[in-house]
Amino acid sequence: MKYFIGNWKMFGVPKSIKILNKINSFNSKDQNRNKYKAIITPPYTLLESFSKYFYNKRLSIGSQNCYQKDKFSSNTAAISPFMLKSVGVKYTLIGHSDNRSEGDTDIILKEKVKYALKNNLKVVFCIGENKIEKKNNKTIKVLKKQLSKVLNKRFNRKNIIVAYEPIWSIGTGKVPSAEELGNIALKIKRILKKIFGKEGLPLLYGGSVDDKSIKNFKKIKEIDGFLIGGASKSSKKFIDIIKNYYR
Ligand code: PEP
Repeated sequence: MKYFIGNWKMFGVPKSIKILNKINSFNSKDQNRNKYKAIITPPYTLLESFSKYFYNKRLSIGSQNCYQKDKFSSNTAAISPFMLKSVGVKYTLIGHSDNRSEGDTDIILKEKVKYALKNNLKVVFCIGENKIEKKNNKTIKVLKKQLSKVLNKRFNRKNIIVAYEPIWSIGTGKVPSAEELGNIALKIKRILKKIFGKEGLPLLYGGSVDDKSIKNFKKIKEIDGFLIGGASKSSKKFIDIIKNYYR
């Protein structure tokens, strides 16, 4: 199974549901529909209405983050995995570089993953090196640390997907070459197999994926899908990514 996940970030109002309706109807008719899963992560304000509307449809709804506690707490503005589940959310991103840069540490991220899994959310765990780490050849070291400090073999492997998102690529139009990404993906998969056993976990790529750059990536067999930021705000761009992937 492949995944195309759209991360809307700080975008969307109630009427933006029309973008999702277009993606959902494309997906329902697409001859390749059984090969992939389409998921969108709108902001918190839209999660309840969108999750209810799409609950039994093909498109799934996820959140962009969750709080590191289980049920209810006294943390102002926090939303727990339990609360997300209660409104029908099915997936959650955890560890996006935006949130890491706002203070999410490995210890916090581990709690987030633990409580998201406990509440039966599927976790999309994001990792990635920054420009300086890449320049200093520290990429694999950084990724290994991000994975091993948070993921645990006791976690339910079936509900976790990893997204490799190099920070230098997010929103910049810069993408790794297919060869570079293929090598990194292979190494990430090896690390995941060490933690979870021979089946490992699905691995997505994220960072400036659009209808053109997707062509670069479709031959990489270690990549099980894509996390798409900017281009997911347009139904046409998101659909063109899927079309070009299977072309
Ligand atoms: C993201 O923020 O997760 C992302 C991949 O963004 P973009 O596709 O815009 O680079």
